[in-house]
Amino acid sequence: MNDTSLSRRRLIELGRDAAVLTVAATAAPAFAQGVARPAASGRPMPDGVTLPDTPPKPKRPDSVGYAIVGLGGYALNQMMPRFARSERSHIAALVSGNPEKLQRVGDAYGVPADARYSYEQFDRLRGDRRVEAVYVALPSGLHADYAVRAFAAGKHVLCEKPMALSSADGERMIAAGRRANRRLMIAYRVHFEPHNLEAMALMRRRAVGPIRFVRTEQLSRTDPASTPARNWRLDGALAGGGPLEDYGIYGLQAALYLTDEMPTSISATTFRPANDPRFRDIFASVGSQLRFPSGAIAQLMTSYDSSGSNLSEVRGDSGTLIMDPATGYSGHKMRIEGRERREFSLGDPTVQFSGMLDHFADAIRDDAAIRTPGEMGLRDIRLMEAIYAAAETGRTILLDTDGRMQR
Ligand code: NAD
Repeated sequence: MNDTSLSRRRLIELGRDAAVLTVAATAAPAFAQGVARPAASGRPMPDGVTLPDTPPKPKRPDSVGYAIVGLGGYALNQMMPRFARSERSHIAALVSGNPEKLQRVGDAYGVPADARYSYEQFDRLRGDRRVEAVYVALPSGLHADYAVRAFAAGKHVLCEKPMALSSADGERMIAAGRRANRRLMIAYRVHFEPHNLEAMALMRRRAVGPIRFVRTEQLSRTDPASTPARNWRLDGALAGGGPLEDYGIYGLQAALYLTDEMPTSISATTFRPANDPRFRDIFASVGSQLRFPSGAIAQLMTSYDSSGSNLSEVRGDSGTLIMDPATGYSGHKMRIEGRERREFSLGDPTVQFSGMLDHFADAIRDDAAIRTPGEMGLRDIRLMEAIYAAAETGRTILLDTDGRMQR
Protein backbone atom coordinates (compact mmCIF):
# COMPACT_ATOMS: atom_id res chain seq x y z
CA MET A 1 0.00 0.00 0.00
CA ASN A 2 1.30 3.42 -0.86
CA ASP A 3 -1.29 5.82 0.42
CA THR A 4 -1.22 9.45 1.26
CA SER A 5 -4.22 9.38 3.55
CA LEU A 6 -5.75 7.34 6.31
CA SER A 7 -8.85 5.29 5.65
CA ARG A 8 -12.11 6.29 7.37
CA ARG A 9 -11.71 3.29 9.67
CA ARG A 10 -8.18 4.33 10.61
CA LEU A 11 -9.29 7.90 11.24
CA ILE A 12 -11.88 6.55 13.64
CA GLU A 13 -9.33 4.26 15.24
CA LEU A 14 -7.08 7.23 15.84
CA GLY A 15 -9.84 8.71 17.91
CA ARG A 16 -10.10 11.92 15.95
CA ASP A 17 -13.31 13.91 16.24
CA ALA A 18 -13.83 14.04 12.52
CA ALA A 19 -17.56 14.74 12.61
CA VAL A 20 -17.26 17.62 10.14
CA LEU A 21 -16.02 15.36 7.41
CA THR A 22 -18.46 13.90 4.96
CA VAL A 23 -16.32 10.76 4.88
CA ALA A 24 -16.68 10.35 8.60
CA ALA A 25 -19.87 12.22 9.34
CA THR A 26 -20.92 9.89 12.11
CA ALA A 27 -17.48 8.94 13.36
CA ALA A 28 -16.94 9.08 17.11
CA PRO A 29 -13.56 8.54 18.71
CA ALA A 30 -12.69 4.85 18.96
CA PHE A 31 -12.35 5.18 22.73
CA ALA A 32 -15.95 6.42 22.92
CA GLN A 33 -17.05 3.38 20.89
CA GLY A 34 -15.84 0.95 23.49
CA VAL A 35 -12.55 0.06 21.78
CA ALA A 36 -10.04 -0.77 24.51
CA ARG A 37 -7.89 2.15 25.58
CA PRO A 38 -4.18 1.46 25.87
CA ALA A 39 -2.88 0.53 29.33
CA ALA A 40 0.21 1.72 31.19
CA SER A 41 2.92 -0.89 31.69
CA GLY A 42 6.50 -0.98 32.93
CA ARG A 43 9.56 -0.53 30.72
CA PRO A 44 13.27 -1.02 31.40
CA MET A 45 15.52 1.83 32.46
CA PRO A 46 16.09 4.03 29.36
CA ASP A 47 19.59 4.53 27.93
CA GLY A 48 21.94 7.24 29.12
CA VAL A 49 20.29 8.01 32.45
CA THR A 50 22.46 9.67 35.10
CA LEU A 51 20.91 9.51 38.54
CA PRO A 52 21.84 12.08 41.22
CA ASP A 53 24.60 11.13 43.69
CA THR A 54 22.84 12.94 46.50
CA PRO A 55 19.06 13.27 46.69
CA PRO A 56 17.98 16.88 46.03
CA LYS A 57 16.03 18.66 48.82
CA PRO A 58 13.14 21.12 48.50
CA LYS A 59 14.45 24.71 48.57
CA ARG A 60 11.48 26.45 50.16
CA PRO A 61 8.90 25.44 52.74
CA ASP A 62 6.11 26.19 50.26
CA SER A 63 7.68 23.97 47.56
CA VAL A 64 5.07 21.97 45.58
CA GLY A 65 5.49 18.18 45.82
CA TYR A 66 5.12 16.28 42.55
CA ALA A 67 4.39 12.67 41.69
CA ILE A 68 6.25 11.78 38.48
CA VAL A 69 4.15 9.37 36.44
CA GLY A 70 6.15 7.40 33.87
CA LEU A 71 9.90 7.00 34.32
CA GLY A 72 10.87 7.19 30.64
CA GLY A 73 13.69 8.86 28.76
CA TYR A 74 12.30 12.37 28.89
CA ALA A 75 11.32 12.31 32.56
CA LEU A 76 14.60 10.76 33.71
CA ASN A 77 17.04 12.55 31.37
CA GLN A 78 15.46 15.99 31.14
CA MET A 79 12.73 16.88 33.61
CA MET A 80 13.65 15.13 36.84
CA PRO A 81 17.24 16.45 37.06
CA ARG A 82 15.87 19.99 36.54
CA PHE A 83 13.73 19.91 39.70
CA ALA A 84 16.99 20.62 41.56
CA ARG A 85 17.06 24.04 39.88
CA SER A 86 13.44 24.87 40.60
CA GLU A 87 12.78 27.25 43.49
CA ARG A 88 9.38 25.96 44.40
CA SER A 89 8.98 22.34 43.20
CA HIS A 90 10.32 19.01 44.32
CA ILE A 91 9.83 15.32 43.56
CA ALA A 92 7.70 13.76 46.31
CA ALA A 93 6.51 10.50 44.73
CA LEU A 94 7.06 8.22 41.74
CA VAL A 95 4.68 6.06 39.70
CA SER A 96 6.11 3.29 37.53
CA GLY A 97 5.30 -0.21 36.28
CA ASN A 98 8.86 -1.45 36.72
CA PRO A 99 9.64 -2.22 40.41
CA GLU A 100 13.40 -2.39 39.91
CA LYS A 101 13.52 0.97 38.14
CA LEU A 102 11.20 2.43 40.77
CA GLN A 103 13.58 1.37 43.52
CA ARG A 104 16.74 2.65 41.79
CA VAL A 105 15.21 6.00 40.86
CA GLY A 106 13.43 6.32 44.22
CA ASP A 107 16.68 5.72 46.13
CA ALA A 108 18.61 8.23 44.00
CA TYR A 109 15.98 10.96 44.35
CA GLY A 110 15.33 10.32 48.03
CA VAL A 111 11.68 9.36 47.51
CA PRO A 112 10.43 7.41 50.55
CA ALA A 113 9.46 3.79 49.94
CA ASP A 114 5.82 4.51 50.80
CA ALA A 115 5.72 7.22 48.11
CA ARG A 116 6.63 4.81 45.30
CA TYR A 117 3.54 3.58 43.46
CA SER A 118 2.74 1.13 40.68
CA TYR A 119 0.20 2.11 38.00
CA GLU A 120 -2.36 -0.09 39.78
CA GLN A 121 -1.79 1.92 42.98
CA PHE A 122 -2.08 5.30 41.24
CA ASP A 123 -5.44 6.23 42.81
CA ARG A 124 -3.88 5.91 46.28
CA LEU A 125 -2.24 9.28 45.59
CA ARG A 126 -5.50 10.75 46.83
CA GLY A 127 -4.47 10.02 50.40
CA ASP A 128 -0.85 11.17 49.98
CA ARG A 129 -0.62 14.72 51.30
CA ARG A 130 3.04 15.01 50.26
CA VAL A 131 1.84 15.12 46.66
CA GLU A 132 0.05 18.22 45.38
CA ALA A 133 0.77 17.94 41.65
CA VAL A 134 1.16 15.12 39.15
CA TYR A 135 3.55 15.33 36.19
CA VAL A 136 2.21 13.07 33.43
CA ALA A 137 5.17 11.86 31.33
CA LEU A 138 3.56 8.74 29.87
CA PRO A 139 3.14 7.93 26.17
CA SER A 140 0.70 10.42 24.68
CA GLY A 141 -2.30 8.05 24.40
CA LEU A 142 -2.24 7.65 28.20
CA HIS A 143 -2.18 11.35 29.10
CA ALA A 144 -5.93 11.90 29.24
CA ASP A 145 -6.79 8.97 31.50
CA TYR A 146 -4.00 9.68 33.99
CA ALA A 147 -4.72 13.41 34.07
CA VAL A 148 -8.39 12.74 34.77
CA ARG A 149 -7.47 10.23 37.51
CA ALA A 150 -5.01 12.73 39.01
CA PHE A 151 -7.74 15.37 39.19
CA ALA A 152 -10.06 12.80 40.77
CA ALA A 153 -7.34 12.29 43.40
CA GLY A 154 -7.41 16.05 44.09
CA LYS A 155 -4.04 16.85 42.45
CA HIS A 156 -2.96 19.60 40.04
CA VAL A 157 -1.68 18.34 36.66
CA LEU A 158 1.36 19.25 34.58
CA CYS A 159 0.84 17.18 31.41
CA GLU A 160 3.36 16.48 28.68
CA LYS A 161 2.63 17.40 25.08
CA PRO A 162 0.58 16.54 23.13
CA MET A 163 -2.09 17.08 25.77
CA ALA A 164 -4.09 14.14 24.32
CA LEU A 165 -4.79 12.43 21.02
CA SER A 166 -8.32 13.74 20.45
CA SER A 167 -10.12 16.99 21.21
CA ALA A 168 -12.76 14.96 23.04
CA ASP A 169 -10.07 13.76 25.45
CA GLY A 170 -8.65 17.28 25.78
CA GLU A 171 -12.09 18.60 26.68
CA ARG A 172 -12.51 15.75 29.19
CA MET A 173 -9.25 16.74 30.90
CA ILE A 174 -10.21 20.42 31.14
CA ALA A 175 -13.65 19.52 32.52
CA ALA A 176 -12.10 17.17 35.12
CA GLY A 177 -9.73 19.93 36.28
CA ARG A 178 -12.60 22.38 36.64
CA ARG A 179 -14.71 19.86 38.54
CA ALA A 180 -11.86 19.20 40.94
CA ASN A 181 -10.96 22.91 41.19
CA ARG A 182 -7.36 22.06 40.28
CA ARG A 183 -4.97 23.63 37.75
CA LEU A 184 -3.92 22.11 34.41
CA MET A 185 -0.79 23.12 32.55
CA ILE A 186 0.66 21.64 29.35
CA ALA A 187 4.44 21.22 29.56
CA TYR A 188 5.24 23.39 26.52
CA ARG A 189 8.75 24.21 27.75
CA VAL A 190 9.63 26.52 24.81
CA HIS A 191 7.42 29.21 26.38
CA PHE A 192 10.11 29.45 29.08
CA GLU A 193 13.16 29.22 26.78
CA PRO A 194 15.12 32.50 26.32
CA HIS A 195 15.60 32.33 22.51
CA ASN A 196 11.97 31.56 21.81
CA LEU A 197 10.82 34.24 24.26
CA GLU A 198 13.10 36.78 22.57
CA ALA A 199 11.85 35.67 19.15
CA MET A 200 8.25 36.30 20.27
CA ALA A 201 9.24 39.79 21.47
CA LEU A 202 11.14 40.53 18.23
CA MET A 203 8.18 39.50 16.11
CA ARG A 204 5.82 41.59 18.24
CA ARG A 205 7.95 44.65 17.54
CA ARG A 206 8.15 43.74 13.87
CA ALA A 207 11.91 43.28 13.72
CA VAL A 208 11.53 41.68 10.26
CA GLY A 209 8.61 43.89 9.22
CA PRO A 210 5.10 42.52 8.74
CA ILE A 211 5.31 38.72 8.56
CA ARG A 212 4.79 37.14 5.15
CA PHE A 213 5.98 33.53 5.62
CA VAL A 214 6.82 31.11 8.43
CA ARG A 215 8.61 27.85 7.73
CA THR A 216 9.05 25.18 10.38
CA GLU A 217 10.71 21.77 10.13
CA GLN A 218 10.66 19.07 12.80
CA LEU A 219 12.29 16.17 11.02
CA SER A 220 14.03 13.03 12.24
CA ARG A 221 14.62 9.46 11.11
CA THR A 222 13.24 6.63 13.20
CA ASP A 223 15.45 3.53 13.41
CA PRO A 224 14.59 1.45 10.29
CA ALA A 225 14.51 -1.71 12.47
CA SER A 226 11.88 -0.25 14.80
CA THR A 227 8.29 -1.51 14.96
CA PRO A 228 5.12 -0.43 16.80
CA ALA A 229 5.63 -3.31 19.27
CA ARG A 230 9.07 -1.99 20.24
CA ASN A 231 8.47 1.74 20.07
CA TRP A 232 5.24 3.34 21.31
CA ARG A 233 5.87 6.34 19.04
CA LEU A 234 4.93 4.07 16.09
CA ASP A 235 1.82 2.61 17.77
CA GLY A 236 -1.32 4.48 16.70
CA ALA A 237 -3.18 3.95 19.99
CA LEU A 238 -0.34 5.60 21.93
CA ALA A 239 0.97 8.04 19.31
CA GLY A 240 -2.05 9.09 17.19
CA GLY A 241 -0.94 10.00 13.67
CA GLY A 242 2.77 10.02 14.67
CA PRO A 243 5.35 12.74 13.99
CA LEU A 244 2.91 15.65 14.01
CA GLU A 245 1.67 15.03 17.56
CA ASP A 246 5.16 14.21 18.84
CA TYR A 247 7.65 16.54 17.16
CA GLY A 248 5.72 18.60 14.62
CA ILE A 249 3.67 20.10 17.44
CA TYR A 250 6.66 22.38 18.10
CA GLY A 251 6.46 23.75 14.56
CA LEU A 252 2.72 24.27 14.91
CA GLN A 253 3.27 26.06 18.21
CA ALA A 254 6.06 28.20 16.74
CA ALA A 255 3.90 29.28 13.79
CA LEU A 256 1.28 30.51 16.26
CA TYR A 257 3.51 32.21 18.82
CA LEU A 258 5.75 33.85 16.21
CA THR A 259 2.84 35.31 14.22
CA ASP A 260 0.75 35.79 17.38
CA GLU A 261 -2.27 34.80 15.28
CA MET A 262 -4.66 31.90 14.88
CA PRO A 263 -4.96 30.43 11.38
CA THR A 264 -8.20 30.91 9.46
CA SER A 265 -7.64 27.93 7.15
CA ILE A 266 -5.47 24.84 6.73
CA SER A 267 -4.53 22.60 3.82
CA ALA A 268 -2.31 19.56 4.26
CA THR A 269 -0.88 16.37 2.89
CA THR A 270 0.36 13.17 4.54
CA PHE A 271 2.54 10.30 3.39
CA ARG A 272 3.05 6.65 4.37
CA PRO A 273 5.51 4.53 2.41
CA ALA A 274 4.47 1.07 1.29
CA ASN A 275 5.42 -2.02 3.29
CA ASP A 276 7.39 -0.23 6.00
CA PRO A 277 6.50 -1.75 9.41
CA ARG A 278 7.37 1.53 11.11
CA PHE A 279 4.45 3.16 9.36
CA ARG A 280 1.81 0.47 9.78
CA ASP A 281 -0.18 2.75 12.13
CA ILE A 282 1.19 6.22 11.68
CA PHE A 283 2.21 8.63 8.97
CA ALA A 284 5.85 9.00 7.97
CA SER A 285 5.49 12.66 7.00
CA VAL A 286 2.96 15.45 7.34
CA GLY A 287 3.11 18.77 5.52
CA SER A 288 0.62 21.55 6.15
CA GLN A 289 -0.03 25.11 5.16
CA LEU A 290 -1.73 27.56 7.48
CA ARG A 291 -3.15 30.91 6.44
CA PHE A 292 -3.42 33.73 9.00
CA PRO A 293 -5.75 36.77 9.08
CA SER A 294 -2.81 39.15 8.38
CA GLY A 295 -2.10 37.29 5.13
CA ALA A 296 0.92 35.48 6.56
CA ILE A 297 1.31 31.87 5.40
CA ALA A 298 3.04 29.12 7.40
CA GLN A 299 4.49 25.96 5.90
CA LEU A 300 4.99 23.18 8.47
CA MET A 301 6.90 19.98 7.74
CA THR A 302 7.33 17.08 10.11
CA SER A 303 8.61 13.56 9.56
CA TYR A 304 9.97 10.41 11.18
CA ASP A 305 11.64 9.41 7.90
CA SER A 306 13.92 12.23 6.87
CA SER A 307 17.34 13.62 7.68
CA GLY A 308 17.06 15.78 10.77
CA SER A 309 16.01 19.40 11.11
CA ASN A 310 14.61 21.60 13.85
CA LEU A 311 13.96 24.94 12.23
CA SER A 312 11.78 28.02 12.66
CA GLU A 313 12.17 30.70 10.01
CA VAL A 314 10.12 33.87 9.70
CA ARG A 315 10.31 36.06 6.62
CA GLY A 316 8.90 39.57 6.89
CA ASP A 317 8.86 42.24 4.21
CA SER A 318 12.25 43.57 5.36
CA GLY A 319 14.12 40.76 7.10
CA THR A 320 14.31 37.15 8.20
CA LEU A 321 14.46 35.48 11.61
CA ILE A 322 16.25 32.13 11.57
CA MET A 323 16.19 29.76 14.54
CA ASP A 324 18.21 26.61 13.80
CA PRO A 325 18.05 24.62 16.00
CA ALA A 326 14.88 26.24 17.27
CA THR A 327 13.16 24.21 19.97
CA GLY A 328 15.58 21.64 21.44
CA TYR A 329 16.65 21.16 25.03
CA SER A 330 19.82 23.26 24.49
CA GLY A 331 22.17 24.49 21.74
CA HIS A 332 19.74 27.02 20.27
CA LYS A 333 20.99 29.33 17.52
CA MET A 334 19.13 32.42 16.42
CA ARG A 335 19.88 35.29 14.06
CA ILE A 336 18.17 38.07 12.20
CA GLU A 337 19.11 39.09 8.67
CA GLY A 338 17.92 42.12 6.74
CA ARG A 339 17.23 45.62 8.05
CA GLU A 340 18.50 44.51 11.49
CA ARG A 341 21.45 42.06 11.45
CA ARG A 342 22.16 40.28 14.68
CA GLU A 343 23.17 36.96 16.19
CA PHE A 344 21.68 36.23 19.58
CA SER A 345 23.40 34.70 22.54
CA LEU A 346 20.84 34.50 25.28
CA GLY A 347 22.27 32.26 27.96
CA ASP A 348 21.43 28.74 28.98
CA PRO A 349 18.31 27.35 27.25
CA THR A 350 17.95 24.62 29.90
CA VAL A 351 16.41 27.20 32.26
CA GLN A 352 13.25 26.39 30.30
CA PHE A 353 12.68 23.30 32.48
CA SER A 354 12.96 24.93 35.91
CA GLY A 355 11.22 28.07 34.60
CA MET A 356 8.23 25.94 33.64
CA LEU A 357 8.17 24.19 37.02
CA ASP A 358 8.37 27.48 38.92
CA HIS A 359 5.63 28.96 36.78
CA PHE A 360 3.28 26.09 37.63
CA ALA A 361 4.17 26.35 41.33
CA ASP A 362 3.25 30.06 41.19
CA ALA A 363 -0.06 29.13 39.55
CA ILE A 364 -0.78 26.63 42.32
CA ARG A 365 0.38 28.75 45.26
CA ASP A 366 -0.50 32.29 44.10
CA ASP A 367 -3.31 31.55 41.68
CA ALA A 368 -1.19 33.06 38.87
CA ALA A 369 -2.41 32.77 35.27
CA ILE A 370 -0.91 29.84 33.35
CA ARG A 371 1.03 30.68 30.17
CA THR A 372 0.38 27.26 28.60
CA PRO A 373 -3.01 26.13 29.95
CA GLY A 374 -5.12 23.15 28.96
CA GLU A 375 -7.01 25.41 26.54
CA MET A 376 -3.77 25.92 24.58
CA GLY A 377 -3.22 22.17 24.44
CA LEU A 378 -6.81 21.69 23.23
CA ARG A 379 -6.38 24.41 20.60
CA ASP A 380 -3.37 22.53 19.24
CA ILE A 381 -5.21 19.19 19.12
CA ARG A 382 -8.04 20.86 17.20
CA LEU A 383 -5.54 22.26 14.70
CA MET A 384 -3.92 18.85 14.29
CA GLU A 385 -7.35 17.35 13.71
CA ALA A 386 -7.92 19.99 11.03
CA ILE A 387 -4.56 19.11 9.44
CA TYR A 388 -5.55 15.44 9.22
CA ALA A 389 -9.02 16.33 7.96
CA ALA A 390 -7.53 18.58 5.26
CA ALA A 391 -5.16 15.80 4.16
CA GLU A 392 -7.93 13.19 4.27
CA THR A 393 -10.38 15.19 2.15
CA GLY A 394 -7.91 17.06 -0.03
CA ARG A 395 -9.82 20.22 0.85
CA THR A 396 -8.89 23.44 2.56
CA ILE A 397 -10.45 23.43 6.03
CA LEU A 398 -11.84 26.70 7.37
CA LEU A 399 -11.38 27.32 11.07
CA ASP A 400 -13.15 29.13 13.87
CA THR A 401 -11.01 31.37 16.07
CA ASP A 402 -10.67 28.62 18.70
CA GLY A 403 -9.25 26.19 16.12
CA ARG A 404 -12.46 24.22 15.62
CA MET A 405 -13.22 23.16 12.06
CA GLN A 406 -16.10 25.15 10.56
CA ARG A 407 -19.12 23.10 9.64
P1 NAD B 1 9.80 6.83 26.69
O1 NAD B 1 9.44 5.72 25.80
O2 NAD B 1 11.24 7.09 26.93
O3 NAD B 1 9.13 6.64 28.10
C1 NAD B 1 7.79 6.31 28.25
C2 NAD B 1 7.64 5.71 29.61
O4 NAD B 1 6.25 5.55 29.86
C3 NAD B 1 8.25 4.30 29.70
O5 NAD B 1 9.55 4.32 30.21
C4 NAD B 1 7.37 3.62 30.67
O6 NAD B 1 7.93 3.86 31.96
C5 NAD B 1 6.06 4.37 30.62
N1 NAD B 1 4.97 3.58 30.02
C6 NAD B 1 3.82 3.27 30.65
N2 NAD B 1 3.02 2.58 29.87
C7 NAD B 1 3.65 2.42 28.68
C8 NAD B 1 3.31 1.77 27.47
N3 NAD B 1 2.12 1.16 27.30
N4 NAD B 1 4.21 1.80 26.46
C9 NAD B 1 5.40 2.41 26.60
N5 NAD B 1 5.78 3.06 27.74
C10 NAD B 1 4.91 3.06 28.77
O7 NAD B 1 9.08 8.15 26.12
P2 NAD B 1 9.46 9.66 26.43
O8 NAD B 1 10.30 10.17 25.35
O9 NAD B 1 9.92 9.77 27.83
O10 NAD B 1 8.03 10.36 26.27
C11 NAD B 1 7.08 10.41 27.33
C12 NAD B 1 6.21 11.64 27.17
O11 NAD B 1 7.03 12.79 27.19
C13 NAD B 1 5.45 11.70 25.86
O12 NAD B 1 4.19 12.28 26.07
C14 NAD B 1 6.25 12.64 24.99
O13 NAD B 1 5.48 13.33 24.03
C15 NAD B 1 6.79 13.59 26.04
N6 NAD B 1 8.04 14.21 25.61
C16 NAD B 1 8.12 15.55 25.68
C17 NAD B 1 9.25 16.19 25.27
C18 NAD B 1 9.34 17.68 25.35
O14 NAD B 1 10.28 18.24 24.80
N7 NAD B 1 8.43 18.33 26.05
C19 NAD B 1 10.34 15.45 24.79
C20 NAD B 1 10.24 14.06 24.77
C21 NAD B 1 9.08 13.44 25.19
